[in-house]
Amino acid sequence: MMPAGTQILVLKEGTRRERGKGAQFNNIAAAKAVADAVRSTLGPRGMDKMLVDSLGDVVITNDGVTILKEIDIEHPAAKMLVEVAKTQDEEAGDGTTTAVILAGELLKRAEDLIEQNIHPTVIAAGYRLASDKAHEVLEKVAMKISIKDADVLKKVAMTSMSSKSASGHKELLADIAVKAVSTVAEKRADDSYFVDDDNIQVVKKQGGSIADTAMVDGIIVDKERVHPGMPGEVREGKIALIDAALEVKKTEIDAKIEITDPTQLQAFLNEEESMLKRMVETVRKSGANVLFCQKGIDDLAQHYLAKAEIYAVRRVKKSDMEKLAKATGGKVVTKLDELAKDDLGYAKLVYEKKIGEDEMTFVTGCKNPKAVSILIRGGTEHVVDEVERSLEDATSVVAVAIEDGKVITGGGSSATEIALSLRDFAATIGGREQIAIEAFADAMEVIPRTLSENAGLDPIDILIELRKEHKKGNKHAGVNVFTGKVADMKKENVIEPIRVGSQAVSSATDAAVMVLRIDDVIAARSGGGAGGAGPKGGGEGGEGGGDGEEF
Ligand code: ADP
Ligand code: MG
Repeated sequence: MMPAGTQILVLKEGTRRERGKGAQFNNIAAAKAVADAVRSTLGPRGMDKMLVDSLGDVVITNDGVTILKEIDIEHPAAKMLVEVAKTQDEEAGDGTTTAVILAGELLKRAEDLIEQNIHPTVIAAGYRLASDKAHEVLEKVAMKISIKDADVLKKVAMTSMSSKSASGHKELLADIAVKAVSTVAEKRADDSYFVDDDNIQVVKKQGGSIADTAMVDGIIVDKERVHPGMPGEVREGKIALIDAALEVKKTEIDAKIEITDPTQLQAFLNEEESMLKRMVETVRKSGANVLFCQKGIDDLAQHYLAKAEIYAVRRVKKSDMEKLAKATGGKVVTKLDELAKDDLGYAKLVYEKKIGEDEMTFVTGCKNPKAVSILIRGGTEHVVDEVERSLEDATSVVAVAIEDGKVITGGGSSATEIALSLRDFAATIGGREQIAIEAFADAMEVIPRTLSENAGLDPIDILIELRKEHKKGNKHAGVNVFTGKVADMKKENVIEPIRVGSQAVSSATDAAVMVLRIDDVIAARSGGGAGGAGPKGGGEGGEGGGDGEEF
């Protein structure tokens, strides 16, 4: 028997550990710091962040997930918020900043409740109830749409881009996004739609202006034909996809070929030449008039290909080969000898076109009509990258809007409606959970509040006005950040897919609950990074946020 009062030492002395409220407050502080880091970017009048890495490379964006992915975050609770952003991005494609700010606010409100001695598990239970209710409210305020409602889909795309710096061209980009997504959307047996984003190929080419960005029906390969003697355009393209070199293999081991007289050398060269000739002959015989080769093509083979009027491209990226296969219905062949007619893909027109400084290959009118590409143009690399991020958001929101067939209004309107309903709902629950549900309701209003703050408006005035309008039954009342007035977001065309809202509520609640349930942070032995789990890590997160605010 152990004498009373003896401490059993389970953890090695010096292990970093923090328990109880100390651990909770520390975790909450770290999570709040992450939320604060992205807060100022929310909405069309939000600011951008300039991210500078250790090599001095710069990214300018206001994309929540991009910002959080790039900044160095050590604290485990802070990392959970980064996960929120990633989940939101994967599931809904937009609303990352919203989800993170909401999670931060839920935790901030929870902190007050913990200080009032409400147990974290009670708060967590209240938050869960509130989250379920919030989903019901979203379903109630949602409006039904279909793939045919191109005008609504365009509004959805434009709303998602309104906070991006490329927003000057959002009409054009929204049209492209709607057209591209509608083209690749596949109808299911139950009449719903499924969108595979992978069917939309995005190709960036620096130069020109954003206005030159366009959708291409088919695939773009950022390569020129290997020989100027080849046709620059092939109609009725029969396309061979080969993952083998059209070269004579150089010996891998240092073999020495001893040539004793000039005729032998000639024979040797002749042999090489005829091998290359045979390779080209194999391609030609298959019926191909276009060749995409993943490996190299020997100069001599290029010459024979040109003579055979075959359009050939070499060293094509593996990912492009896969896209070509999917689009043209062709098969990537790894042994040239086995190339047969059945392996060939089809495209109505294959041609080379100069884009900016470089020639690119366009494969259009593919066998699979659900293959489209977007060619992004823009003056600088930064512009092209931000257009890409904008288009990614736009295509994702259009895709999920089509898939779910439901949209809601933004500008803080749906968040306010949720807050209002939750306050009524809380009263029916009673007890301590009621207080947690009310805290959830208050947290929802962080969205209109932050939108107002970022637009330089008085958030208190706006919130009062919003609550008044929603009490009157104006479900779509939100904040017009440009006029500074509360207005009907449906009329203002601020429309979002329901999934952006519902996913933000879900992932913010999940993260908040997870952080709340932790009352003990023990630094694990391996994974040195966890050593920063103490107050120091939180402080760093805070600093990161502070840095961001400066810009
Ligand atoms: P997130 O990363 O959460 O998508 P954004 O910076 O894109 O963050 O901002 C999205 C928020 O801006 C949403 O709440 C959306 O409803 C709102 N918003 C977008 N366009 C407008 C607009 N014209 N007026 C008011 N709010 C808008
Ligand atoms: Mg957005």
